Amino acid sequence: MSAPAARRDAAIVWFRDDLRVADNPALDAAARTGKPVVGLFVHDTISPGVRAPGAAQKWMLHHSLAALSDALGELGVPLVLRAGPASDIVPAFAGEAHASAIFWNRRYDQALIAVDSELKRDLTAAGVKATSFNGNYLHEPSLLKTGSGGPYKVFTPFRRALAAGEEPGPPLPAPAQCASGDGELPGLRLDKLSLLPHGPDWTGGLRESWPAGEAAAMGRFTDFLATGLDGYGEGRDRPGQPHVSRMSPYLRFGVVSPRQLWHGARESGAPRADLEKFLSELAWREFCCHLAFHFPRMDSRNFDERFDAFPWRESHRDLPAWKKGMTGYPIVDAGMRELWRTGYMHNRVRMIVASFLVKDLMIDWRVGERWFWDTLVDGDTASNPANWQWVAGSGADAAPYFRIFNPVLQGEKFDPQGDYVRAFVPELSALPDRILHKPWEADTQTLAQAGVELGVTYPHRVVDHREARQSALDALQTVKKAS
Ligand SMILES: Cc1cc2nc3c(=O)[nH]c(=O)nc-3n(C[C@H](O)[C@H](O)[C@H](O)COP(=O)(O)OP(=O)(O)OC[C@H]3O[C@@H](n4cnc5c(N)ncnc54)[C@H](O)[C@@H]3O)c2cc1C
Repeated sequence: MSAPAARRDAAIVWFRDDLRVADNPALDAAARTGKPVVGLFVHDTISPGVRAPGAAQKWMLHHSLAALSDALGELGVPLVLRAGPASDIVPAFAGEAHASAIFWNRRYDQALIAVDSELKRDLTAAGVKATSFNGNYLHEPSLLKTGSGGPYKVFTPFRRALAAGEEPGPPLPAPAQCASGDGELPGLRLDKLSLLPHGPDWTGGLRESWPAGEAAAMGRFTDFLATGLDGYGEGRDRPGQPHVSRMSPYLRFGVVSPRQLWHGARESGAPRADLEKFLSELAWREFCCHLAFHFPRMDSRNFDERFDAFPWRESHRDLPAWKKGMTGYPIVDAGMRELWRTGYMHNRVRMIVASFLVKDLMIDWRVGERWFWDTLVDGDTASNPANWQWVAGSGADAAPYFRIFNPVLQGEKFDPQGDYVRAFVPELSALPDRILHKPWEADTQTLAQAGVELGVTYPHRVVDHREARQSALDALQTVKKAS
């Protein structure tokens, strides 16, 4: 991609996890300078602290960049793509574009903050004014502090502090037409970033699930406000029902902003309890960012160090069965297959499959976290490890390790008519509801009538939950002893 360049005095917007034109403080500020605006995206997987995106995220990034480029084009703003370490690319680009100002929205991982701070210094020394904003969270993670001045480790007081603070400002509109430059700035073609898979195309389910760009994302959110938010409080736990927003992949890449969702929900007229629950979920996202900001390397380190002593298992049989959705537990298998097919999994089921891996199979949460990282379109450096550690019991404000989800009871409670399991485990679809979540208890005739042959058309259970639960509780004693 080559783009017309400003010969003199351009304003650069460095896009990162904020691939949108509406409610984008960096773009808004650049447009207000009246200078020719140039967009830059750097595909940087090698700077210290950068966590290279997983395969599903790369797919989402590709299409989000294509949509952003179109949306910027309508404003007269070119988007230039480059690849390499940001610390080299950004100053060089500022020189080529004859920029006097650069704008970006902040990211909150400590290692990336270090990259950005150093860049700010270098750019300032080179006469380029660098200005940054909070565009991707409702609050600035460094500003919320407990009474004793430290970071929050417990969600409820964090949520209270967030609610007691200032209401997030209203979302900004997309800028009107921006001044454009002249001359050419060379950039890479989008396909040269190699974000799409080579070889067999496994992205059909992703394409069906995640239309790209702001208009599509906001359209989905508007539908959610009209039909999903009313009843969200209870419905959000039912994976077979359309009561969640499915905004997480768009939030991950900043195709929508949390302020747009916050204010959209507030103005929707939804019942108060449903609204509060939804805002509270947005606050969980903030809490995860807060934790990641204050406690770096959450994806590799147990927040609760006593878990360093936990006797995790390795299993060359059980781990692949979990990944493929072949554990013999229908709700677990439905979740893992939803993930594989669509790059997403319903939150309730994420908790069930994570608990199953960590407790029933006693496999290290980091192994599951990495699998999610590679397969989720919404894989997030803060929310993914924070939630894995929450389920494992090693995290901040975590579910206690001894709270072990029973995958049968969870299935029966949250997918009582089996809509979700039948959608993703079709080989069980003819089983009656009463036995759907525990096919091993079905009699021979029921199985035969449903066309199910255990061990042939659908796997036997990899573990017996009751025995596995006991082993997990025994192992927990190791952690207790370490305290
Ligand atoms: C093991 C595990 C791993 C997870 N990994 C990720 C991840 O990598 N990326 C990610 O965005 N979410 C992650 N989550 C949180 C949650 O499952 C998703 O945010 C949610 O399912 C997204 O669907 P939605 O947009 O329809 O949610 P909605 O119910 O509509 O909620 C609205 C928004 O609130 C936020 N939110 C909701 N629940 C949580 C939560 N528990 N933690 C943080 N934010 C939340 C999300 O941004 C979400 O889009 C994980 C949860 C678990 C249990």
